[in-house]
Amino acid sequence: MSKQILILPGDGIGPEIVHEAVKVLACLRDDFGLDIDLDEALVGGCAIDAAGAPLPEATLALAREADAVLLGAVGGPKWESLDIAIRPEKGLLGLRAGLDLFANLRPAILYPQLADASTLKPEVVSGLDILIVRELTGGIYFGQPRGVRTLDNGEREGYNTLVYRESEIERICRVAFDVAARRNRRVCSVDKANVLESTELWREVANRVAGEQADIELSHMYVDNAAMQLVRAPKQFDVIVTTNMFGDILSDCAAMLTGSIGMLPSASLDADRKGLYEPIHGSAPDIAGRGIANPLATILSVAMMLRYSLDEPELAARIERAVEQVLDDGLRTPDILSPGATEVGTEAMGDAVVAALRAAA
Ligand code: NAD
Repeated sequence: MSKQILILPGDGIGPEIVHEAVKVLACLRDDFGLDIDLDEALVGGCAIDAAGAPLPEATLALAREADAVLLGAVGGPKWESLDIAIRPEKGLLGLRAGLDLFANLRPAILYPQLADASTLKPEVVSGLDILIVRELTGGIYFGQPRGVRTLDNGEREGYNTLVYRESEIERICRVAFDVAARRNRRVCSVDKANVLESTELWREVANRVAGEQADIELSHMYVDNAAMQLVRAPKQFDVIVTTNMFGDILSDCAAMLTGSIGMLPSASLDADRKGLYEPIHGSAPDIAGRGIANPLATILSVAMMLRYSLDEPELAARIERAVEQVLDDGLRTPDILSPGATEVGTEAMGDAVVAALRAAA
């Protein structure tokens, strides 16, 4: 049966970059026999304009029915003055919650061709290929009680709760072990078990899951050390698994090791590996409509979709090789431009990836 893919272009550069990713999907369907049906819907600011809500019921219903969702980006200055409860970003949060996407996978890959883009020395980051698995629906961002209260002496106090159930830790660790099995078989679990009881439990459960997976090596690291190691010697890592808040911070740090926000994809998965795939960057209103946005993060998000939700690792690898090929050919959008390279726009970059895919067929 055909796999259903829901396309959510969103706002700003979203429609431009998603257009190129859809060309890649269409090429795989037409030339490589990928059995997919594409549908499209509104999310974010464009949905507020058209339907009065950042995540219309119809969009959520389609997303629930789909096997995978491809999202561009949401948000922009036009909607910034709206109440926080109905801003475009709520559409994204609603999708994550509505689809129970508890596992966020963020690779940080530095293509050797782009080693100069990093602020770190090329020898520290060249060839970097790590994957951060962040728990996305629990931890301190969701824990109750939370709020700001006034104490007896009149002083106000803000408070949040860091809470993790064993089942939540277990399922995110299983995802990390599962993806590590397709990579270099090493998982580093990041916690603060020396201070926080909830992450002491995290460590205990990670060890338990590791006991069932003898072929995967598990190590543990405190989050402060992990932050230091990420900028000191990032290539020591293969897969990092961590809590919602630690993952939020560490994954941005890891992304910036590569220096090229337009190159990094992400996946958010549920328990059945159904996923939402999107570039890690936002809607880039400063360059929207100019045809210069880098579509490669979105195209690489399609590769993740093929690997994790559609069970097509060969086709995923084909996309990744095609992206490497266009980089080898010296094609660069302005955000990754370097001396001697050929500057291209969004559309030409997408076309080049499709041509490289076809050439290798
Ligand atoms: P941003 O990621 O949109 O842009 C940061 C910088 O990176 C900008 O200079 C932009 O031009 C550049 N950039 C981003 N993607 C690029 C690409 N593909 N090619 C070339 N350059 C690229 O972050 P921001 O400016 O902080 O946020 C803009 C809007 O996006 C805000 O409304 C924010 O809320 C929203 N946002 C959405 C998401 C999402 O949809 N997942 C994520 C982050 C931010």
